[in-house]
Amino acid sequence: MSRKNKPPLKPVSPKANFIENEHKWLKYWQENDIVSRYLQKNDLAKKRFSFFDGPITANNPMGVHHAWGRTYKDLFQRYKNMQGFKQRFQNGFDCQGLWIEVEVEKEKGFTSKKDIEKYGLANFVNDCRARVKKYSAIQTEQSKRLGYFMNWDNSYYTMSEENNYTIWYFLKNCFENGLIYQGQDAVPWCPRCGTAISQHEIDSEGYQQITHQSVFMRFPIVRDSRVAENEFLLVWTTTPWTIPANTLVAIHPEITYALVEFEGNKYWLAKSLVKKVLGERTKIIKKTTGEKLIKEEKITHYQGPFDSLPIIKETAKSKHFHQVVLDKNLVNEEEGTGLVHIVPGAGTEDHNLVKKDLGWEEIIFPVVGETGKYLSGYGNLTGKSAKENPELVINALKNNENGRYFFKTQNYTHSYPTCWRCKEELIWRLVKEWYIAMDKPRSSDGKTLRKQMIRVAKTINWIPEFGLAREIDWLNNMHDWLISKKRYWGLALPIWQCSCGHFEIIGSKGELKKRASSGWQDFAGHTPHRPWIDKVKITCPECGQEMSRIPDVGNPWLDAGIIPFSTLIDPKTKKISYLDDKKYWHKWYPADFITECFPGQFRNWFYSMIAMATQLENSQPFKTILGHALVRDEKGEEMHKSKGNAIWFDEAVEKMGADVIRWLYMTHNPEINVNFGYKNADQVRRQFHILLWNIYRFFVTYANMSPNIDFTEAGSSSHPLDAWIISRLNKLIAKTTNDLDNYNATAAALRIQDFVEELSTWYIRRSRNRMNPRNPQKKDQENALKTVYLVLVTLVKIIAPFTPFLAEEIYHNLTGRESVHLTDWPKAKKEKINQKLEANMNLVRDIASLAHATRKDAQIKLRQPLAKITVSSSEEKLPQELINLLKEEINVKDVVWQKGDKLDVLLDTKITPQLEAEGQAREIIRKIQQLRKKAQLEPNQKVSVTLPDWPKQFEKEIKQKTQVNKIIKGSKPSIVK
Ligand SMILES: [Zn+2]
Ligand SMILES: [Zn+2]
Repeated sequence: MSRKNKPPLKPVSPKANFIENEHKWLKYWQENDIVSRYLQKNDLAKKRFSFFDGPITANNPMGVHHAWGRTYKDLFQRYKNMQGFKQRFQNGFDCQGLWIEVEVEKEKGFTSKKDIEKYGLANFVNDCRARVKKYSAIQTEQSKRLGYFMNWDNSYYTMSEENNYTIWYFLKNCFENGLIYQGQDAVPWCPRCGTAISQHEIDSEGYQQITHQSVFMRFPIVRDSRVAENEFLLVWTTTPWTIPANTLVAIHPEITYALVEFEGNKYWLAKSLVKKVLGERTKIIKKTTGEKLIKEEKITHYQGPFDSLPIIKETAKSKHFHQVVLDKNLVNEEEGTGLVHIVPGAGTEDHNLVKKDLGWEEIIFPVVGETGKYLSGYGNLTGKSAKENPELVINALKNNENGRYFFKTQNYTHSYPTCWRCKEELIWRLVKEWYIAMDKPRSSDGKTLRKQMIRVAKTINWIPEFGLAREIDWLNNMHDWLISKKRYWGLALPIWQCSCGHFEIIGSKGELKKRASSGWQDFAGHTPHRPWIDKVKITCPECGQEMSRIPDVGNPWLDAGIIPFSTLIDPKTKKISYLDDKKYWHKWYPADFITECFPGQFRNWFYSMIAMATQLENSQPFKTILGHALVRDEKGEEMHKSKGNAIWFDEAVEKMGADVIRWLYMTHNPEINVNFGYKNADQVRRQFHILLWNIYRFFVTYANMSPNIDFTEAGSSSHPLDAWIISRLNKLIAKTTNDLDNYNATAAALRIQDFVEELSTWYIRRSRNRMNPRNPQKKDQENALKTVYLVLVTLVKIIAPFTPFLAEEIYHNLTGRESVHLTDWPKAKKEKINQKLEANMNLVRDIASLAHATRKDAQIKLRQPLAKITVSSSEEKLPQELINLLKEEINVKDVVWQKGDKLDVLLDTKITPQLEAEGQAREIIRKIQQLRKKAQLEPNQKVSVTLPDWPKQFEKEIKQKTQVNKIIKGSKPSIVK
């Protein structure tokens, strides 16, 4: 068979320009409809693969860290597509929330909520929406550049009506189950953004090392309503701004406290901390436990430094005010004094202690307002920023009553929560927020959301496995879900409240229209966002007054958590299938697979999806989750704009290439942070892309030199090298299929890399002479070319989901067909897997590497033939064809086999004159071939050469192997045409 009537393969450049090629294929895929044909490839298939995309925040250009997850997403969808699964290919954009608002504020130069309100809510909200449109378009283009094939025109946006109204439906369901409530709590609060920061947000990314002035205060003891003489409680705090609102002092019942004499006064503090706080010059007068301190020493109350403030005077009417209480959770002996300053109006734990444990709600009072300023009732502190002016409090403490309450200050560096968006230090303040209860029995089935969520989480397959434990830990410890934010651009929480206290949740647009008593005209035609939705009023069924929507917007994780319900729009009815007939929804729910970055999402996306699916359906929203770690710089440090070590995606992709970025991520273990940089990329390219490129180029060069051979035809070769590489190839198919079925991208990628390496360093190296057109055995040459062709064309199908550009480049040229991305995943042929041959080949390679090592020690070049090698092995002697292969590889004349316990070789390193002459001949052949190459001679062009000397008994062989007519004696080796 001949290829004469087929065009030759396009010649392959020795220096691959991977990036230029990527642009060529992007254009080609676009112009030839390859992407849409890929998306539609399995439209008629019965089997489905359902993937839910975790929405990317459409707020900035995509970062290199996004490329990790996006490569997994593309990989597994491509793999399933090649396997014939019908899919939706829907990408998602996260659109609402504080992070968008903060960027728009920056753009406009706004510094507070006042600026936004002056600018106008409608303008501001429209700007937020415009920002989302802009960056979602940019991210789409960047994702395409990565080689990510999705139905980009069908991306979902969490700001869509579908998404917002489906959340309304969910909240109504929670409401009907009695789970929604308004609660007062002391919550972490950003004074700049003017909003509560949820526990999830702080835990994931909010802490910074900050130095504050900590304060040691002395509180005079009140025993039986009388102030004791010179006897104080020594109390420590790291938040001086909360001192004016001091409410209680907590001590530990089991810690030993000491009364210590120091500079003429007596102080109570934990005995173990005496030296640390007061130094050596102290005298311990007595000691007792915390419990006895109250019972026996009768230390029950104390005086505070700001007791004359109006707000304190009011609270001090309670007998519990300034009481000493026992608590095991908040008190320890690690730092401070062992006596803890308690302010329920400015601390979550403090609030819980006073409200839940003690039940003394009457002594809880607020400290600061929305912008972090002291409220009225705080004397001349009122209206001053609490966090920015700690010296106001410290100075007052030092000066009031001659410093009666002041002991000392000390710098203290601690991990302190800051706003994850604007980096402002957080404060705690009392606010009324809306919550979903985790431990309240649902009215529908009497079960609590927390328990049901734990049950659901356990039905999910978590990769890596520790993910389940992390999620369960979160589910066990999380508070009720804080769903409100006092902001502008977000889900309009569908809570309408009356001044009589009654509130209701509206579950749909239709319901709102029916209930609207006024304002519908102002709202109609708008999306359910502020300010338009705020116009709609309803009538209170309790008292008949007008009810308004609370001004709060929703926690953004509601937006992302609802997508298993909101994004499945039936293409026939164009309706949200879940809220309509559920038929289409049932086909795609739950997702087979999701993948996202692990840290953070346990508390965010995974959590919110599990919460919402548990509440609505009591079922898992996804079957398998693959989590991955974080992207760091080359030294393993966090990338930061300010540090100058950040790498932008656009720059990385044009310098490294998308395929290299993808391969870098896919060969990396998802459990471990990846160090991302240009050096790593170079190494990745060398190890895989260039290695494969050279194999491909080598094949194309030899194939084009042999136009009489149709290598595209299936052949069957019994040559051990051919049979071996075909066996390896089929094993590769079987194993990578199994890896990818188990979502193990790393195992598959590393296996592919190993295969390419053995293809290059063993098969191709040992088959060079066979593939060469000068190989006198034409059938052997044909077999080798056919084998390499088959291997390459199959291999590029396997790598197509990993490195789509390189796969296309090779496939397109070798086959002349349209696209590797329209092909099917190869099936392993079990009958081609030959275990015995693979084991024998391993043995050959082991013997060869021992022999090469011996040569190296003896400093004998491989071109110098040697007489024999003696192999000791516990294995049977290798078949003759493999012995021949071994002889060629290690350049020996004879192999002697003997039984031994372990593999060992003895290489006969004696060089006889005959062997020496043969070695010289090999050296000369190599030299002439180099000269021919330099002179750019055609492979079959005959020439004469001059040589200073040559072994005459090998003259014929030298001439034959180098296309030389005549050897002439000359001073140095040269070509004579
Ligand atoms: Zn902030
Ligand atoms: Zn009412």
